[in-house]
Amino acid sequence: MKNFDPLETLISYLRFPSVSTDKEFHEGMKDARNFVGGLLENMGFSVELIETECHPVILAERFVGEDLPHIVLYGHYDVQPADPLDLWDSAAFEPEIRNGRIYGRGSADNKGPTIVHMSALQEVLSEQPDLALNITYVIEGEEEMGSPSMPKFFDRYSERLSKADMMFVSDTGSPTTDQIVITTALRGLVELEIKVKGPKSDLHSGIYGGAVYNPLHALSEIIASLHNEDGSVNIPGFYDGVSKIEHWERDELKRYPLNLEEYQSMLEVPGFYEPRGFSPLEAVRFEPTLEINGMGGGYQGEGTKTIIPSEAFAKITCRLVAEQKGDEVQNHVIKAIEERCPKGVKLEVRRGCFANAYSVIPPNKSEAVECSNFLKNAFSVTDLAIQKQFGKSPLYLREGGSIPVIADFKNRAGLDAIMVGLFTPEDNLHAPNESFDIELMQKATATFADIFRSLGEPR
Ligand SMILES: [Zn+2]
Repeated sequence: MKNFDPLETLISYLRFPSVSTDKEFHEGMKDARNFVGGLLENMGFSVELIETECHPVILAERFVGEDLPHIVLYGHYDVQPADPLDLWDSAAFEPEIRNGRIYGRGSADNKGPTIVHMSALQEVLSEQPDLALNITYVIEGEEEMGSPSMPKFFDRYSERLSKADMMFVSDTGSPTTDQIVITTALRGLVELEIKVKGPKSDLHSGIYGGAVYNPLHALSEIIASLHNEDGSVNIPGFYDGVSKIEHWERDELKRYPLNLEEYQSMLEVPGFYEPRGFSPLEAVRFEPTLEINGMGGGYQGEGTKTIIPSEAFAKITCRLVAEQKGDEVQNHVIKAIEERCPKGVKLEVRRGCFANAYSVIPPNKSEAVECSNFLKNAFSVTDLAIQKQFGKSPLYLREGGSIPVIADFKNRAGLDAIMVGLFTPEDNLHAPNESFDIELMQKATATFADIFRSLGEPR
């Protein structure tokens, strides 16, 4: 095994423009995939490229023996598009180091964290080539497209993956470079779109106004009915499966290094929307939501136009928590909308995708949790390693975002995840000038090296 330099390796990795969603970057995807596969082969992994309808999944294994601890490391080699290019201070795929940060698309999401895991492993394997730890890498190429091929991947490989004890993921965030968060939950997601149809074409509002139901009015009535005055969602069954917030969760959040004024000025909002019983920082983690993310219909040009529009549409997304089920929530929302749609218009519903929420309760936080000894130990080893390298114990927090594939690993292969957040708000994920903090990268590498060493110790 020839050791690689972590920073130089990340720089090389960032040069491959691996934008999954755009066919023009096909070569970049291939190059990034081969690069990662090569690194893993060099570390002694047997590497398979699993073909999908779009971008192959890298499945790599280091198997050292039956009955040994076995972890899965998940990451993705694809990145978001770099547009708008003119807002970058250095080219998106020509990485540059400035002020202790490495700039480039994918530096934080998720190439930097992938190199962190690999560098840590390399360090430990060069000390102990026989490290008693089985490791499976799953690095997909469609995360930024919503992981469309992963369900089929699980059809074929979930049994093999289920032999592992648990997984590590570093595709979540932390509030600052010295306060690491271990994410304990991700919200689920439901998408749908509704169209309200009235007359077959726009009508003259003088000739027909008053006699024909206006689809925009009908849509507004439906949408207004979806929330109660206190901000809660007004759909029967919507809250089924939402669990109570535990004391420790509120306590952890009190240690979060961001106060409300800072949060408000960061967002440049004149005030917060305040759902009942939750602070804004709590609401984004603990509550499910129903949001209209786009709506339209009728005349959108300058001035006015005297018409009754022929149709109107709205796009709806829900974020789910705890045991809420994506398919059930989708059905509840559609049923409520159908029941509330006025008679004089027709309703069309397009179901989008859905994903369940995921949560893992750290065993040291709640006695009620059933969890394997291995996971228990992995949590405590991770906590200690973070304390040692970052000087502070990690915060255990739910996150508002969704990584549907993590719930799939749990539901399809029974794997719980320890999600160690390595990107921070300064990293500009998905935006121009994405970057990754080099000191954090080094500390995180040392942290994961400690974790791998401990997990591979004979017990
Ligand atoms: Zn990511």
